[in-house]
Amino acid sequence: PELRELLLDRIHDVPDYPKPGVMFKDITPLLADAKAFGALTDALVELCERYGADKVVGLEARGFILAAPVAVRAGLGFVPVRKAGKLPGATLAQAYDLEYGTAEIEIHADALSSGDRVLVIDDVLATGGTAEASLRLIRRAGAEVAGVAVLMELGFLDGRQRLAGALEGAPLEAL
Ligand code: 5GP
Repeated sequence: PELRELLLDRIHDVPDYPKPGVMFKDITPLLADAKAFGALTDALVELCERYGADKVVGLEARGFILAAPVAVRAGLGFVPVRKAGKLPGATLAQAYDLEYGTAEIEIHADALSSGDRVLVIDDVLATGGTAEASLRLIRRAGAEVAGVAVLMELGFLDGRQRLAGALEGAPLEAL
């Protein structure tokens, strides 16, 4: 409850961003606050331990910022899932539906191996499309999903439901 209040206090609502009618959750005040960012990192490290993760996957772009210090503190490797066209090596790609159109994300084909247990980290779970596609990529890369952890879940968008099938029983934690 204390952590929750600290984090919520440092996430600011920005109306009409990136387009009219959307209330954007801005996490930059949290990142700028050493106590809040540190507490968030500690909580995510604890999830790595609880779920027995041995790799941390961050989702572009804010997921990178949260996941990298977690990987270092937990003593685990970090693997990026990127928007299409950004990774230099051979990749696996996964398309997913947006409100209008589709998007595509990629992972390096050799970034994970069978037996790897991955904790997926992102800042916000909205519709769940990004996380769902990421879980498919991780499994296609041969690894197991230990869990998904996000700073914040926008409950009214039902991302948890969309993600349920792809989780295959793995935990989804929103801090
Ligand atoms: P989804 O695929 O679940 O609809 O969208 C989640 C992705 O969009 C995440 O990678 C997240 O960074 C970004 N996102 C969507 N809405 C917000 C928001 O209000 N605030 C932030 N910080 N990110 C958002």
